[in-house]
This record gives sequence, C-alpha cells and structure tokens, in this order.
Amino acid sequence: MTSPLTVLVIASGNAGKIREFAHLLAGLPLEVRPQPEGMEVEETGSSFAANARLKAEAVARATGCWALADDSGLAVAALGGAPGVHSARYADSDAARIERLLRELGEVERQRAERGQPADRRADFVAALAVADPSGTIRLEVEGHCGGLILDAPRGSGGFGYDPVFLVPETGLSYAEMDRSLKSRLGHRGRAFALLEPRLRAVLQAGDGSP
Ligand code: IMP
Repeated sequence: MTSPLTVLVIASGNAGKIREFAHLLAGLPLEVRPQPEGMEVEETGSSFAANARLKAEAVARATGCWALADDSGLAVAALGGAPGVHSARYADSDAARIERLLRELGEVERQRAERGQPADRRADFVAALAVADPSGTIRLEVEGHCGGLILDAPRGSGGFGYDPVFLVPETGLSYAEMDRSLKSRLGHRGRAFALLEPRLRAVLQAGDGSP
C-alpha cells in the first residue's frame, strides 16, 4: 500500500513557482514542503509533460514523500514555439531572458514587415503538473494553458520570469500587474491546478494513497 498523502513536496527550486503553489494549495489539508536544498533534476525531456514527470519522480524518490512538479514555459507563435521547454535556459536572469525575447521577436517582426506581413505577438503560457507517490510512480498529470500577447516593453512589478511582458488581453493587464488571486484564476499554473485539485482531493479522501 502506498503511504497516504499527508506531505506534498514541491519539486522546484524556483521561488516564484513555490509562492504560487503555496497560495494554490492553501485550502487543502496538506503539509507543503520545499524540495531538498541544492537538488537539481536535469530537464532532458522534449515536452513540458515529460520534464514535469522527471522532476516529480526524482524528488519523490529522493524524499520518500509525495511530490508535485511543474514544468512550464512560454511558447511564442512567431518564434516557432520558442523559448518553449527552454524558457528557463533562454538566458541567465529574468531580465536577460526578457531582453532576448523582445530582441528576437523584434527581429522577426522587422522581417515580417519587409514581407508585408502584419505583426504577430501571440503567445501561449503552458504549465504541465505531475504528482508522484513516494515510490516515484506518477499518479496524476494535467496541463494548463493561458493565451496572451507579448508586450513591446515590460509592465508591472509583481510575479517572476516573463510576467512583465505577457499580456492577458481580456484583462488588459500583464501577469506582473495582476494580484496573486487573479493570476491564480486566469494563469496557466492556476488553470492546470484547477484540473488537478479535485483529483488531489480524491487521493486525500481515499486516505490510502489510491486516487
Ligand atoms: P522550468 O519549468 O523550471 O523549466 O522553468 C520554466 C521557466 O519558464 C521559468 O524559469 C520562467 O522563466 C518561465 N515561467 C514559467 N512559469 C512562469 C510564470 O508563471 N511567469 C513567468 N515566467 C514563467
């Protein structure tokens, strides 16, 4: 029998993601813990889902606890889906990642203009979540998306990563201009979590680790 779900380790070293999960998980009867300090899992998968699985499995095995992993990133249409699964590795800091994204998109936009094509700043933020039990077996998997547009320049001071340049058109706000509750409701991670939550509750209710 699998150990019951009482402790959930967040398989991430990203402070921004950990803050969002603490908020999202606050209503569940769970002890939420960070992953062991210094732990790095190589993201060798070619999809968000594959990388989420790798991280959840590794952290569950290392800790002997249930683990929740998130692999996420930004797919920009005019850049052929880049930076995609390479979102974290696109440059060395959030500011440098944003700078590179705006530079590359600006370059593509100039080329499109020369060909008489309109600008295309559409992008999709994706979050794949995976939950592994203490043996490292994947038990739950979901994916959430949020469509938006890449702004010409950063706006807002909240959030992390690419938040200041990602506009959610129906709100008129960048992710970095939203409060945590709004991003939790509309954002890619919040939408993924909305799919995961009832399934996590089912595991909690079963009490013996069965979904
Ligand atoms: P990974 O999932 O650890 O590979 O990293 C995903 C990367 O995508 C992060 O380092 C951020 O740069 C970016 N990212 C993922 N989610 C968000 C978000 O909610 N806002 C802004 N950037 C994000």
